[in-house]
Amino acid sequence: MILYNDAILERNEVAVSPEDRGYYFGDGVYEVFRLYNGRLFEPEAHKERLLRSAREIRLSLPYSADKLTRRLDDLVQASGVTEGTLYLQITRGCAPRAHGFPAECTPVLMAYCTEAARPAAGMERGITAVTVPDIRWLRCDIKSLNLLPNVLAKQEAADRGVNEVVLHRNGTVTECSASNLMIVRDGAIRTHPANNLILHGITRKVVFRLAQELALPVEEEPFSIEELLAAEEAFVTGTTVEVTPVIEVDGRRIGNGRPGPVTRLLQERFVQEIARQTGRLPN
Ligand code: PMP
Repeated sequence: MILYNDAILERNEVAVSPEDRGYYFGDGVYEVFRLYNGRLFEPEAHKERLLRSAREIRLSLPYSADKLTRRLDDLVQASGVTEGTLYLQITRGCAPRAHGFPAECTPVLMAYCTEAARPAAGMERGITAVTVPDIRWLRCDIKSLNLLPNVLAKQEAADRGVNEVVLHRNGTVTECSASNLMIVRDGAIRTHPANNLILHGITRKVVFRLAQELALPVEEEPFSIEELLAAEEAFVTGTTVEVTPVIEVDGRRIGNGRPGPVTRLLQERFVQEIARQTGRLPN
């Protein structure tokens, strides 16, 4: 089932216009929500970020935020997906190709749910990564449809036989291709500040809350590739990867090359947070 503007339709009933500005320019924004036990995790935070991304690119939603909430709930019900993701995108709409905003243009909203298991292997054993230059624009805080740099970076990871990329600007680590990166040093968690150079991850914020409950200090300060390689632990945070240990970067082990105790503790607490919000421990 697909939520297409205001209607919930079968996939084969949805026809996308070749003139959609999403195709021409990547002119739109998106969100990915996680579903556990048939319920959305952190729905308000995702909706808020969507509204902010839309505002920042001067895109108006096709309908009110309250109506969006109801339509997303309807979509989850109609899809029957209990463990998975909800993908949503809004483009500026359809018009003959010209860079400037068309005078008359109705935004196009599209969303659907996909059944997906949690990435158990990575969360349990940890993932490997290589560092690559962050060639993205200077508004990485906007969740825009323009993902070409992320796509190229992720493909480079695959080509080089690792799971992920660590993006850096002149040696300062920003984040990963679809997750935020945190390191543990002297028992404190350090991660790039939420400015224009990273996506302000929802999972990042959840982890901050959990860290506060555990009395673990969090420093929102940039760190270098050298500091990453010298860290006691490193982990990524993201809607689909939750809290996933990073055990190797550029062929060098992080810590002892195994998921560290702070990472494990946060993973444990994260699962409890899922249960608190959605009524059941995840599979
Ligand atoms: N950074 C980037 C570039 C991302 O695409 C994502 C995934 N949305 C994240 C960080 C993590 O954000 P979140 O925790 O909200 O999924």
